[in-house]
Amino acid sequence: MSRPVDLAQLRASARDFAVKAHLADRSRELDEHPAFPWAEYRALGEKGWLGPRVPEDFGGAGWGYRAEATLLEELAANGGSVFAKLVLQPEFCSVLRHGSPAVVDRWYRPMLRGEVLVGNQITEPGAGSDVRALASRVERVRDGEGEHFVLTGVKSEAAFAADAKAALVYAQVPVPDGAPAITAFLVPQDLAGITVELHGDMGERWMRRGTVHYDSVRLPKEAQVGEVGKGFSYLVEELTQERAILAVIYLALARESHREVIEHARTRQLFGKRLGDLQAVGFALAEDSTLLDAATLYVEQTLDRLERGEDSASQAAMAKWLANTTALRVLDHAIQFHGGAGYSTKLPHEQRWRDVRSGGIAHGSHETLKMLKARELLGRK
Ligand SMILES: Cc1cc2nc3c(=O)[nH]c(=O)nc-3n(C[C@H](O)[C@H](O)[C@H](O)COP(=O)(O)OP(=O)(O)OC[C@H]3O[C@@H](n4cnc5c(N)ncnc54)[C@H](O)[C@@H]3O)c2cc1C
Repeated sequence: MSRPVDLAQLRASARDFAVKAHLADRSRELDEHPAFPWAEYRALGEKGWLGPRVPEDFGGAGWGYRAEATLLEELAANGGSVFAKLVLQPEFCSVLRHGSPAVVDRWYRPMLRGEVLVGNQITEPGAGSDVRALASRVERVRDGEGEHFVLTGVKSEAAFAADAKAALVYAQVPVPDGAPAITAFLVPQDLAGITVELHGDMGERWMRRGTVHYDSVRLPKEAQVGEVGKGFSYLVEELTQERAILAVIYLALARESHREVIEHARTRQLFGKRLGDLQAVGFALAEDSTLLDAATLYVEQTLDRLERGEDSASQAAMAKWLANTTALRVLDHAIQFHGGAGYSTKLPHEQRWRDVRSGGIAHGSHETLKMLKARELLGRK
């Protein structure tokens, strides 16, 4: 059972926080000068707003999906995607809950307080959508200092490559008489043998993504998170929740731009008319409004199913696809109908579009999400 939350009060405090902390200006600043927003991360932790769906036993607030969605909507509407994504990062690391009590105390609880940042490293140069093709390996070694692990591999595309103090790294572990098994490891990022190259990105630049090289990195035995061979199934469970809740952020950003472009279409005069009275514009806005409402209902239904503990993997996948494609269309219209100003950084629509665009690739690309739904419809071969 999730903890009851007064949603109206939460909405008001989230808006108040966003306005007082100038989150909209900070979002633009972090786009121009990418950095991890530690001050806001700590402030969100102090308010108990980092990973609020994490159960109270692990140091979270124990909220349900609707309460979390309310917080995300307000932070996204008043501060862009950055701070809403910060809220979710501890939940993106919920695999840590399978770790030993020492791992939970050292990494998970402090993360919920905004004291440390943990990243996720799955993708490799030769394995993205096809997670089972991971080539990173962890070997068990016994020497004069006892038993430990050695990690070798390359993790590309990793968010927070510059800032995470540790990462959940997924690697193959050879098992006697069996195929290698994907297993999760908690790897502090300051160990000997780790080097990082940063990428430049079109959006969400504050995440400072990069490639992390592991050259025979020695890990303590306690680094293993959960059981050998269970890494993939832990990930699948986490990804379902991630996809549904990310959809809330895409729609909140799009709704804000939609509201702003309607205002513009009401006031901008051209050819002796209001912009919105041009049928091509008015029809597009009418469609956008309906698509936003339809996508919102589908996402809310998905969150309610997850709240009730129902199997929702394919619906969560399609909620992300629907919300993301709807949001991109709406944001594109906001850019278009604002004309030259819409394309410029004077208005927030282009940044919102760039930030939402990552959702077609990260946390399962559109194509892999549709594969999941198609398999459900057609049955597995
Ligand atoms: C902003 C951002 C943040 C990210 N953060 C992280 C992170 O923190 N940690 C991490 O591990 N990874 C992260 N990623 C990486 C992301 O998870 C991968 O990029 C994604 O899984 C796709 O893998 P890939 O890049 O190897 O592309 P590929 O798997 O090579 O796919 C290439 C293209 O083929 C398409 N495709 C795949 N399968 C099919 C199919 N069956 N039919 C048709 N088309 C198909 C894909 O959709 C894609 O368009 C991030 C990515 C982005 C953009």
